[in-house]
Amino acid sequence: MKLCGLQKTTLLDFPGHVAATIFLGGCNFRCPFCHNSGLIGSEAKSQFSEEEILSFLRKRKGILEGVCITGGEPTLSEDLEPFIRKIRELGYLIKLDTNGYRPEVLKSLVLNGLVDYVAMDIKAGRENYSRAAGVENIKIKDIEESAAFLLGGALPFEFRTTAVKGIHSLRDFVDMGEWLAGCPHYYLQNYLDSDQVLCPGYQPFSREELDSFLNVLKLHIPNAMLRGVD
Ligand code: SF4
Repeated sequence: MKLCGLQKTTLLDFPGHVAATIFLGGCNFRCPFCHNSGLIGSEAKSQFSEEEILSFLRKRKGILEGVCITGGEPTLSEDLEPFIRKIRELGYLIKLDTNGYRPEVLKSLVLNGLVDYVAMDIKAGRENYSRAAGVENIKIKDIEESAAFLLGGALPFEFRTTAVKGIHSLRDFVDMGEWLAGCPHYYLQNYLDSDQVLCPGYQPFSREELDSFLNVLKLHIPNAMLRGVD
């Protein structure tokens, strides 16, 4: 496991809880709009030992309520489950961020009671998924399996999509609405450019374009919302 980053406090990442966020290195996607490009490849290096992280969390007991595990893609780390168990033994709630491409790991963690909240990225409509995830011939069934599992209501969760001009069109949001119908928490975020982006050159959508996507989503996901958009 590569422990590549630690945000010591966040009020935003874990809904309803003051939390710390741990960034794990490595990812099985290459989303061209990825903002954590330094975390996804073999160049990602551990910055902390497991004991350093656990020691920090021991000291913050009673101040922090939860720990967000993000990446990269956390479900790739073979020792994720024992790591989460150690954090839970300290009394923390766990939020897992995932791209949903390892449904068997997601299910195992949830069914073993090791996760309290999941945020799963929905990268695009199903026909456009390979392009948005940067993976040729993506096995969309694995993504569908994770999404269906979460929609089954085993625990609180959210789906979220980053809309990127040059990658997405209205067609994506028509499909996502039908696919994820009834999702209780869906957030549509706009692309933000930064120095860390894997493939620079993409643009955000206008507010009017985002509203048109949201209106299409709301036909099937009435609670769909914009996030981080003024
Ligand atoms: S945005 Fe894509 S490439 Fe980047 S960490 Fe998330 S899933 Fe991996």
